[in-house]
Amino acid sequence: MNYQFRKEVQVAQKAAMGEMYNLAKESLGVNDKLINFASGHPSTDVFQDKFLKKYMNFALEDGAKELLQYGAHAGYMPLRHSFRRFVNEKGMTVKEDDDLMITYGSVEAIFLVTAAFVSRGDKVIVEVPSYVNAIKSFQLQGAEVVGVGMEEDGVNIEELERAMKEGAKLFYTVPNFGNPSGITMSAEKRRAVYELALKYNVPVLEDNPYGDLRYRNDRIPHIKEFDEEGAVIYISSMSKLIAPAVRVGFLVADKELIDRIIPIKAVSTNGVSSIIQYALWKMFEENDMYEQIQKICDVYEKKLYLMEEKMDECFPASVAHSTPDGGMYIWVTMPDGTDIQKFCRESAIRLHIPITPGNGFCVTEPEKCTSMRFNFVKESMEDIAYGIEKVGEFMRDYLGGY
Ligand code: PMP
Repeated sequence: MNYQFRKEVQVAQKAAMGEMYNLAKESLGVNDKLINFASGHPSTDVFQDKFLKKYMNFALEDGAKELLQYGAHAGYMPLRHSFRRFVNEKGMTVKEDDDLMITYGSVEAIFLVTAAFVSRGDKVIVEVPSYVNAIKSFQLQGAEVVGVGMEEDGVNIEELERAMKEGAKLFYTVPNFGNPSGITMSAEKRRAVYELALKYNVPVLEDNPYGDLRYRNDRIPHIKEFDEEGAVIYISSMSKLIAPAVRVGFLVADKELIDRIIPIKAVSTNGVSSIIQYALWKMFEENDMYEQIQKICDVYEKKLYLMEEKMDECFPASVAHSTPDGGMYIWVTMPDGTDIQKFCRESAIRLHIPITPGNGFCVTEPEKCTSMRFNFVKESMEDIAYGIEKVGEFMRDYLGGY
């Protein structure tokens, strides 16, 4: 069949993290060990399978017939209420349950918001670097994705203003411990972003899947907390707090906007599984979820500190790394001119240590990117220590002692 794919589908590519993992796996000898720093996944050690099983069983026992039925497109109302309470406990002021809808992970929330706003050729502004699946979601739906630079305290405000002035449908940001940068946007910049959104009528899509995984420094208000005009769409997810397989995320926005998104959700996934929503509702009703999340933070925090310490000890002075306050990733930058794709390929093939090259996260000048993303939560403490030593040795070799 001569398939006539849309232009955007023809150019879509597979993820680089999978490519590096496959290279490492293919070159693995019998006595070799693969240490995966390329992954985008949380650690399986923190998944509370027994806890989840208890609530899945509840769901099946409590009301099996009803829960096997189709549910409301915007989600199971008691869960919408539980999530509203959950985010309000951390500083948000979501007024009504109708201001929150349930999605299949936050990746679906990104897709739905894009579908609601973006026609082919419309501009969407993203940070450089930014979350690769968000970039792809915008591009697949026909957006022209415009990049604005990042600084240590978040997006470059002057560049953002220039981009917004030219007109855009959305500004997408991950203000807490961004994927891949690990950067956190300062409170001043969050306020400035909100004011620019109002000035230029460009809504902010605030993606916060990692915000609760904070290991140091104080919480900074969400951009959504400033919002009195419906300028901010806030999304988050259970993937890093419970497990990715539950595939539950949520979106907070004015009811007026949610009412526009619901018909899109109706024809895309027709609502999220009622069984899983019921199980999560029960779980949120019966437990202090912030206590559960603290258990994850206790594990991840140690891994972050270890990886940073080993990077400081083993990486050449010409190599820099970000110092995230939370989340799952450290962004490592090699000297200008380094071919980062080649470095990551060789690390995968020779060391069996896949790392994700940064190019795919950058919408402007991806070929000039000399950074790569390390996942610091997935591997054990021993493998982090050993793996970073090996990568450090290889860097010295690769950079010829610099
Ligand atoms: N946003 C960001 C910034 C992410 O890193 C991820 C997952 N890695 C997602 C959204 C999507 O997560 P999910 O669909 O599992 O909620």
